Amino acid sequence: MTMIQCISPIDGSVYAERPALDGLAATRAIDAARAAQKDWARRPLEERIQLVLSGVKRLNEMTDEVVPELAHMMGRPVRYGGEFRGVNERADYMAGIAADTLAPIVAEASELFERRIVREPHGVVLVIAPWNYPYLTAVNTVVPALMAGNAVVIKHASQTLLVGERMVRAFVEAGIPTDIFQNLFLDHDTTSALIAARKFNFINFTGSVEGGRSIERAAAGTFTPIGLELGGKDPGYVMDDADLDAAVDTLMDGAFFNSGQCCCGIERLYVHDTLYDAFVEKAVDFVSAYKLGNPLDPETTLGPMANKRFAAEVRAQTSEAVAMGAKALIDKSRFATDDNGAYLAPQILVDVNHQMRVMRDESFGPVVGIMKVSSDQEALSLMNDSEFGLTVSLWTKDAERAARLGADIETGTVFMNRADYLDPALCWTGVKNTGRGGALSVIGFHNLTRPKSYHLKKVTA
Ligand code: NAP
Repeated sequence: MTMIQCISPIDGSVYAERPALDGLAATRAIDAARAAQKDWARRPLEERIQLVLSGVKRLNEMTDEVVPELAHMMGRPVRYGGEFRGVNERADYMAGIAADTLAPIVAEASELFERRIVREPHGVVLVIAPWNYPYLTAVNTVVPALMAGNAVVIKHASQTLLVGERMVRAFVEAGIPTDIFQNLFLDHDTTSALIAARKFNFINFTGSVEGGRSIERAAAGTFTPIGLELGGKDPGYVMDDADLDAAVDTLMDGAFFNSGQCCCGIERLYVHDTLYDAFVEKAVDFVSAYKLGNPLDPETTLGPMANKRFAAEVRAQTSEAVAMGAKALIDKSRFATDDNGAYLAPQILVDVNHQMRVMRDESFGPVVGIMKVSSDQEALSLMNDSEFGLTVSLWTKDAERAARLGADIETGTVFMNRADYLDPALCWTGVKNTGRGGALSVIGFHNLTRPKSYHLKKVTA
């Protein structure tokens, strides 16, 4: 029997382990979900919405257990709490738009014809979730999928092994039928085999580019629709008219919160030469104030990375950049808790360029490179010089300038004077290697349902 383990970044110990399901047991569970789904979809929409919201409420009641559990599993400091503010905001928003969004589109309702498009649930939806925001990333699909009448199977990341189990427990305790929302502990091969056997009617994968490619390969030829929300290398651009203090605070928080492990975290910065020196000075002060340490300590503001292999990649990108001429501005001696393992001191790099991996590859860690630019055109070509496109954060007082520039940026979301936030009213999506997801908003509901057309001619004479 294969065991799936969660190794805690706090001390490298095994925090949790669960046996992986074999293909047969997983198939039985998915078949049960499929059998139960039709009844679930026949329930009134309002009843499904209220049950899902009750599940979210039940999850909130578990906060005292969730917060230290997250610290143990992926290293987020307990001072930042769970993820429930965002979870609640997204669930409430999707509940609020469900009735209008899922209502039939009526083309004609006359004595002669009824012509309408109805939104049907796909059936069984597979959610494959990452560890970095384990609840937030999962609810983006779980909540609207269930509301829309789908059954949901969740396979969570090994690093956050207990999250799927806990979500299901909360939702089932709130009254969602057990077959309708199930957590399965699956290894990669079994997951791929189930996908290839067309066991799912929709798959949402949030994770790495490599993982996304594997899922797409597994699904090849099955025509199963897939949402892929993959990596990023999100830029910030500080223009000459920006509010400097606000830009430093938001962009540095966007780069270092969660130890830089945010899909839409700020990974590279371009600052207009008139503000560059002041920006860099303030950024260094901001970052030097972090307290790196045990995430269970309420004083800790920067936890370990979720896994020491992730920290090794950030160290490699940083030292390669320094070897190529970059200058590291953060004095590592301020961060004595850096242990060359999962605990990694934050770093700001200047004198960087796009030949360096740290400015091209996803770092997904507490490091950011800052480049000086002298025009919007220069910033634009650097921002677009990337294999990724999730978000971009523009800093200016001129909304028209931001919109003009935004139109030419290859990205999923254009922010002005903010960063690192998912607005549930807007579509969460990306371009290039960031994939082709479309979560939350009316578009999220559309992606979790399929259109079905009714063309009813009432008079045959
Ligand atoms: P990951 O290694 O790709 O894993 C993500 C999830 O996919 C985990 O549940 C993982 O399971 C599973 N998985 C990976 N390869 C698989 C395969 N071949 N077959 C079946 N399941 C597979 O990514 P991660 O390290 O957890 O997450 C970090 C990445 O996610 C970053 O690149 C980040 O940018 C991206 N991300 C993107 C968004 C977005 O909205 N665009 C949001 C959050 C994160 P195991 O854990 O068991 O391997």
